[in-house]
Amino acid sequence: MAQLDVRQKLEILADAAKYDASCASSGSVKRTSRDGKGLGSTDAGMGICHAYAPDGRCISLLKILLTNSCIFDCHYCINRKSSNVRRARFTAKEVVDLTLAFYKRNYIEGLFLSSGIIGTSNYTMEQIGEVARSLREDHDFRGYIHLKTIPDADPELVRQAGLHADRLSINVELPTAGGLKRLAPEKDGARIESAMGETKATIVDTADARKKYRSAPRFAPAGQSTQMIVGADAATDGDIVTKAATLYDRFTLKRVYYSAFSPIPDASAVLPLQRPPLMREHRLYQSDWLMRFYGFAPREVVAAADDATGMLPLDIDPKLAWALKFRASFPIDINRAPREMLLRVPGLGVKAVNAILGARRWRRLSLADVGRLTVSVAKMRPFIVTNDWRPVALTDRADLKPMVVPKREQLELFAA
Ligand code: SF4
Repeated sequence: MAQLDVRQKLEILADAAKYDASCASSGSVKRTSRDGKGLGSTDAGMGICHAYAPDGRCISLLKILLTNSCIFDCHYCINRKSSNVRRARFTAKEVVDLTLAFYKRNYIEGLFLSSGIIGTSNYTMEQIGEVARSLREDHDFRGYIHLKTIPDADPELVRQAGLHADRLSINVELPTAGGLKRLAPEKDGARIESAMGETKATIVDTADARKKYRSAPRFAPAGQSTQMIVGADAATDGDIVTKAATLYDRFTLKRVYYSAFSPIPDASAVLPLQRPPLMREHRLYQSDWLMRFYGFAPREVVAAADDATGMLPLDIDPKLAWALKFRASFPIDINRAPREMLLRVPGLGVKAVNAILGARRWRRLSLADVGRLTVSVAKMRPFIVTNDWRPVALTDRADLKPMVVPKREQLELFAA
């Protein structure tokens, strides 16, 4: 590996980290002055990403890899062993110094650190953990730390890392065992899930201990998350939603991130040549919200997908797709329906439902009242009853979809 200075390493290792979606990165560079060099500049390519802290604040993180060298050869990964990319490697101390320097300049509020596997899984995990340890113990760093963990590493090394990190994540990568075997043959799906199980158990144990003893150590208080790549294999949206639901359920994950596969330079021949539409990733995030905040069961989200292809429609959101498919569940009386049914109405968000529940304690709501709480009442009109509105056999009409999805919206979607 050629001798590189820290700035050159940062260019390579921040760029290599951008393919990981599991810290909710926007991938953008912030606080860059016009020429990219002035005061406050983080310069292009020096990955500052944004993530949401457990208290809901949007925070800036330095998102980098410890190294982009790897002994594995996952086909979808730009850092795989056989990839012809410039390699670089930070020492743990260099990452610590960079984090502190960025933090002191107010560029960032935390660190997202991942890595290719160098030497052995244990050695890599030790190095990742050492960065977090040194930041916390040697420098009293109070910022946010998100560490990617190595599933094959000794659980004790992961536990040590979690004592200093706010969040840990392990990427499940692909939704099916077949996809993982084909595209990441050195990875072991069972081992990945068993590592998630161990992390969950430690999170639960330490949270229990802290309820009894305030001095008990913290362990990943912001929980664990994972990432799935979308569109690199033949998995359907139904497969992805089902897998995500299983992971949420078994490992109490805080988030599953979906990352649309993007063709990488020097790509492996087994990969598709085209990226999936970004809208697919967006629809999966919407389906994730339906399960986490709208009370939809995973099988209901899967039912919104096309029966033949197992894919969610791209032209409408999954909640509207479900309503159009199961229109016998409508119309819903805005003045009488329970919260869980109101949440099923296309176009009604959690905030609007809460406002409806609050307002209807005092009076009966009209269509105009509901309209004031939403962006467009046209989308929901066929699905609701108010004190001055009742749809007339609208749910039986074959042209219901064009009525609730204006043509302009459809054209914009496909133009985009
Ligand atoms: S183990 Fe991680 S870094 Fe290495 S090739 Fe696979 S995905 Fe890339």
